[in-house]
Amino acid sequence: MKTEQAVLRARALGKCIPAFNCPHIPMVKPIAQAIADENSVAMIQVARVEWEKFEAESPERIAEEYSKYRVEGHTLLHLDHVPVIDEDYLKVDYMKLISRALKAGYESVMIDGSRLELEENIKVTAEAAMLAHEFGVPIEAELGAVMGHENKEMPPYEEIFASKMGFTRLDEARRFAAESKCNWLSVAVGNIHGQVAEAVRNQKKPKARIDIEHVAALYNAAGIPLVLHGGSGIGHDSVLNAIEAGVTKINVGTEVRQCYEAALGEKQGDIIYAQEKVYQKTRDYIKNYLFNSDLADEFREL
Ligand SMILES: [Zn+2]
Repeated sequence: MKTEQAVLRARALGKCIPAFNCPHIPMVKPIAQAIADENSVAMIQVARVEWEKFEAESPERIAEEYSKYRVEGHTLLHLDHVPVIDEDYLKVDYMKLISRALKAGYESVMIDGSRLELEENIKVTAEAAMLAHEFGVPIEAELGAVMGHENKEMPPYEEIFASKMGFTRLDEARRFAAESKCNWLSVAVGNIHGQVAEAVRNQKKPKARIDIEHVAALYNAAGIPLVLHGGSGIGHDSVLNAIEAGVTKINVGTEVRQCYEAALGEKQGDIIYAQEKVYQKTRDYIKNYLFNSDLADEFREL
């Protein structure tokens, strides 16, 4: 199954492909199994912050684990956030990381230039897109500020939503999609990331909601599938409406990570027990939250 076609098929069906983050290596197995057992289609992904500040080790290590548990027709491997400027505001050798991931077999990748000015973001995304496309894989980019990863205090959620702070702009989305050649666009529409700073990463995420009209307008302007980051903790109606309006990939990180870590804490490092919890959580998300059971039937010939 080719990732680019899979995402376009999902869009045509009015469905959304979830992408589950794996900040701990033992999470790959139960997530892959849950996707296949639901007869669904989903991505397994890792972000740079997850091998820098969590336990994912490296993109190659996750790819190796993925190769053991991948299930053809059901699972896809995606490289999540490779920031140009990271959450500590330091420069990252992004082309090198993306190149490593492509060589390790990632089936889609992300470049995150969202902390840059528009012109610069377009430039770095176009550069990364050219490389990804040489490998025949699609690339995701980000425009707007999906907050939460930075090591600084976030304003209260209601303030972010009311002022549309950091929301992706329509004129910029139109231009960005046309000039950067990215395949999918991660947008800021009320969604927030789970916090990754050590002191707050175990806190419950504030409940977020989505500006659906803005999603529809952005999809119309950009003309490419939209991606919703920070999928944990968004109201269910918001998510279903956002999918209808153009969201075609949704990132799920905090919820499953906290489930894994809590289980390890509960039964003192019992990885099998924590994997079972992650398996159940993932199945439940696919089945009861996205209604994506048996989605794979619609993807057979891809
Ligand atoms: Zn993200």
